[in-house]
Amino acid sequence: MAYLAEYIWIDGVQPTPGLRSKTKVMKEGDELPIWGFDGSSTEQAPGDKSDCVLKPAFSCPDPIRGGDNVLVMCEVTYNDMKPHETNTRAACEKTAKKYAKHESWFGLEQEYTLLDPSGWPYGFPEGGFPAPQGPYYCGVGADKIFGRPLVEKHLELCLQAGLEISGINGEVMPGQWEFQVGPLATPAVGDHLYIARWLLQRLGEDFGIVVSFDAKPIKGDWNGAGCHTNFSTAAMRRDGGYAVIEKACKALGTKIDAHVKGYGAGIEDRLTGKHETAPYNKFSYGVSNRGASVRIPWQVPIEGKGYLEDRRPNANMDPYTVTRLLVDTICAATPV
Ligand code: ADP
Ligand code: MN
Ligand code: MN
Ligand code: MN
Repeated sequence: MAYLAEYIWIDGVQPTPGLRSKTKVMKEGDELPIWGFDGSSTEQAPGDKSDCVLKPAFSCPDPIRGGDNVLVMCEVTYNDMKPHETNTRAACEKTAKKYAKHESWFGLEQEYTLLDPSGWPYGFPEGGFPAPQGPYYCGVGADKIFGRPLVEKHLELCLQAGLEISGINGEVMPGQWEFQVGPLATPAVGDHLYIARWLLQRLGEDFGIVVSFDAKPIKGDWNGAGCHTNFSTAAMRRDGGYAVIEKACKALGTKIDAHVKGYGAGIEDRLTGKHETAPYNKFSYGVSNRGASVRIPWQVPIEGKGYLEDRRPNANMDPYTVTRLLVDTICAATPV
């Protein structure tokens, strides 16, 4: 019996690359081979040298097609198999290997916004605005929650695919939602997040709903969309870990620009200091503080160990880049 492999990759569209995919018919028992695509159609190559290579990096069951079919997250390479300039996974894997002894874990809180086909948020009246935000976060009821059938179906599909999804919730703006992936090491957490993003957008096709990872989909007094990144090392998770977490926060405070630049396009518009954010150009951290750049959950000082939450990454961030930056900065400054 033949089976189908959906090869998924990240394109070169700037400043916010998107996902692309195409289907390969496989013979029973065949291993996933490298494959190619037209890079001139994805802003990854000029027309006269258009061939780019897809190198399978991670695969899981395809919960949409079912059966033996699979989804395949790929790295993009040049013809000599060197990483393409848009391939952020290769550098992430290299850094992760360098600091493997730290045993870093990540939990990503992916926020997103559902839009109707005209581009206006699901739950917003046509051409107008709903009542101010307040009752929508984790709400219930047809006046507060919009798009739940799609969100529920997405959770079910992620579980069927074997992704490490850890929860979902309705967010602060109507039509805005969140799912969490992790805890997982990197680049695995990035692989799982990208497949989960692809499934969400793919499902949106069936529902006639557009999924946006825009960091500030509606200007004005409405929450932006982020991807809070929870992080720990083995030393943080053991007794005495609180001191290691504080050390990590201090290290982050010395590299503000490098991190913010890699945390997603348009971050200045989202990290304004309002709507549970800290200004993008200042660094702060604090226990339970949702107005700080980095929040230390309330259990950490009580238990003396745990993890930290970098609240700065945008919803449109690249998880390979964000996790690479965190491992690089924090593991260099903290003990194994
Ligand atoms: P919030 O209260 O900020 O909304 P969430 O419950 O949405 O938090 O997300 C927390 C995320 O942190 C989850 O994905 C969870 O798996 C992850 N997490 C929990 N413990 C750790 C840890 N020790 N290291 C890294 N991530 C963790
Ligand atoms: Mn959350
Ligand atoms: Mn959230
Ligand atoms: Mn959070």
